[in-house]
Amino acid sequence: MTDIRNIVVLTGAGVSAESGIDTFRDAGGLWEQHRVEDVATPEAFERDPELVLRFYDMRREAIQQKHPNAAHEALARLDREWEGGLMIVTQNVDDLHERAGARRVVHMHGTHLNAWCTACDVRSPWTGTLIERPACPDCGERSLRPDVVWFGEMPYRMDEIFAALREADLFVSIGTSGAVYPAAGFVRNANDLGVRTLELNLEPSQGSAWFDESRHGPATQVVPPWVDEILAA
Ligand SMILES: [Zn+2]
Repeated sequence: MTDIRNIVVLTGAGVSAESGIDTFRDAGGLWEQHRVEDVATPEAFERDPELVLRFYDMRREAIQQKHPNAAHEALARLDREWEGGLMIVTQNVDDLHERAGARRVVHMHGTHLNAWCTACDVRSPWTGTLIERPACPDCGERSLRPDVVWFGEMPYRMDEIFAALREADLFVSIGTSGAVYPAAGFVRNANDLGVRTLELNLEPSQGSAWFDESRHGPATQVVPPWVDEILAA
């Protein structure tokens, strides 16, 4: 693997699952009788902001009680020790990659720990609640919403992600089902560009056939050996 210099890693729910962060899809996609699709859209926020803010306040509080696992730690070690290019693109809205020590992280679906002001477009670090409609620390308007990409909204930083894929020698997808676009399209994009592809996932995914190689198992068991391997190469 000495020919590998630039790596793009994509992480999904499977990386945080072993830290106890569930996706609601496991529970039939329901939260208090609401389909997750009904609390994670701009339309839902317009229709019933209290419901949506309560949901995100609960999630924001919950993730602060969780801890990074061995997969987050292995990727943080890769970030520290890998001298070539690296972008860790995550679909996760928790901060467990950062808390493990990773720095080269791109949150394509936003983060629970920011509030986004729709009046002035400034994002502020946020650990508390939003349901009481607090004032934006920047402009003072009461127009804060979760800085999370909802269904129907454009993921963040796609230009940077595609630029990194074009420069990549290896694309690694970890703990993601291959079901949600545009992330699910990265592997096909990597194939078109001639980039080597590896999947690390609990089980064969809908996208497995697109990868040069797949390794299956819980993230805490398959990610650390892969990081050891790539750092030793
Ligand atoms: Zn503002």
